[in-house]
Amino acid sequence: MSSAHITFDTTGDKIARRVRKMRPSAVRNLFAAATRDDVISLSGGMPAVSLLPEEDVRRAVLAAVESPQARAVSLQYGPTDGLAGLRAVLADMMRDLGIRVKADQILVTSGAQQALTLIAEAFIDPGDIIITEGPTYLGALQAFSAFEPDIRAIPFDEDGMRMDLLEAELERIGKGNPRLKFCYTIPNFQNPGGVTMNAERRRRLLELADEYGFMVVEDDPYGRLRYDGGHQVPLKAMDDSVIYLGTISKMLGPGLRTGWIAAPESVLARVNLVKQGADLCGSAFDQLVVQHYFADIPWQRTLQKFIALYKERRDTMLAALDEFFPPEASWTHPAGGMFLWITLPDYMDTDSMLAEALEAGVTYVPGNSFFPDGVTGKNSMRVNFSFETPESITEAIRRLAGVIEERLEL
Ligand code: PMP
Repeated sequence: MSSAHITFDTTGDKIARRVRKMRPSAVRNLFAAATRDDVISLSGGMPAVSLLPEEDVRRAVLAAVESPQARAVSLQYGPTDGLAGLRAVLADMMRDLGIRVKADQILVTSGAQQALTLIAEAFIDPGDIIITEGPTYLGALQAFSAFEPDIRAIPFDEDGMRMDLLEAELERIGKGNPRLKFCYTIPNFQNPGGVTMNAERRRRLLELADEYGFMVVEDDPYGRLRYDGGHQVPLKAMDDSVIYLGTISKMLGPGLRTGWIAAPESVLARVNLVKQGADLCGSAFDQLVVQHYFADIPWQRTLQKFIALYKERRDTMLAALDEFFPPEASWTHPAGGMFLWITLPDYMDTDSMLAEALEAGVTYVPGNSFFPDGVTGKNSMRVNFSFETPESITEAIRRLAGVIEERLEL
C-alpha cells in the first residue's frame, strides 16, 4: 500500500502515550477568540522591544552578515554548545551577577525554553520526582510533563519557596531517593508569582539539596529587571553545582531565540548529546547578532530604559489594585519582573470567570494553569504589568475589579 493511502487519526492509538495526555489549553482558545480592539491584555509576558534603539539593532544584525568571514559563521552549522565568541561574552556578563564560569561551562540554547526541555530529557524518567514552586512557569510544566515526572509543587510566600514545606515534602520523599532528580526554581521575580527568594532560603535550599541529594535548576530570565532593593546573590554564585538558565529574551528580544545553560561540564556533556538530537546546533545567525549586541553596544542603557518603563507600570498596577480591588483580594508586591499574583477567596473560580472578564474587555491567566494538577490555584490569577500603557493598566484593573465583585458572595 502506498503512503498516500495512510490516514492519520490524531486521536488514534499511534500517538505516543505522553502526547495523548496533553490537552490544548482552553485559555489559549479563549484568547484566540479575543480579537476585539478594546480588550486590554494582562495575560502575556512580552517585553517592550520597541524601546530598542534602531541603530543598535541594525549594527548588531549587520555585524552578523557584513563580511565574508561573518557570513561563513552566521549562515553555517555551528558547534552544538554554541559559538565560542558568544559563550565568552555570556561568561563575562554573568560576572556582574557574581557568577564565575568559564566559557566551556556554558551551552547555548534556543531560548531558556529549550534549556528546560533538554534538561528534562536528560534527567527525567517516567515517575521521577521533581520539585517546583507551586505555582510555577507554565512553559516549564509543559517541557517537564512530556517526560512524565511526578511533580511536587511547593507553595511560596513573599520571600520565595517555603522551605518549611519543602522540608516536609523531602521527608516524605526520603533521603537519597534515586527517583528524586531536581528542584526547579525561579528565585528572582518568579513567574507567575512575582516573589523573590531571600538569601536565607537560598542557603537553606542548597543545604537541603546536599542533604537529600537533588540537583538545583535556577531559571533567571528576570534577574536584571529589578525596580527596588538590592540584587540577591544567585544560587549559582553560592554553589558551583547549580544548573543556571539564562536568556536574552528580556534584555534584547525573544525573537532571537537565544538562552543558555551554565552548569558543570559533566551535566553539559549529557545535555549536548540531547541537543544534537533536537537541532544539531542553534541558529548561528541569532548567536552572532546576540554576541555583537552584548559585546559592542551599550546595552545597559537600553536595559535601564526597560527598567524605568516597567517600574512605572508596576507602580500603576499596584496603585490601581489598591484603589479598585475589594478587600477580599490579596496580591504580591514584586520588586521586579513582569507579573504579580492575585489571590481571591477560596470559592472563586478564575478559570470560568475569564469569559466574563473577556466580555468586560480584560484578560489574565487563570491560576490553575500554573499548577501541575491543573486544579490547584483556581481562586488565583497572574497579571502582567510590562506590556500595556499605564492608562490601560488602570482601566484593566478597574474592569477586572467589576468582574470580581459580581462573583463575590457578600
Ligand atoms: N523561564 C521563565 C520563568 C520564563 O518566564 C520564560 C519566558 N517568559 C522562559 C523561561 C522562556 O524564555 P525564552 O524566551 O528564553 O525561551
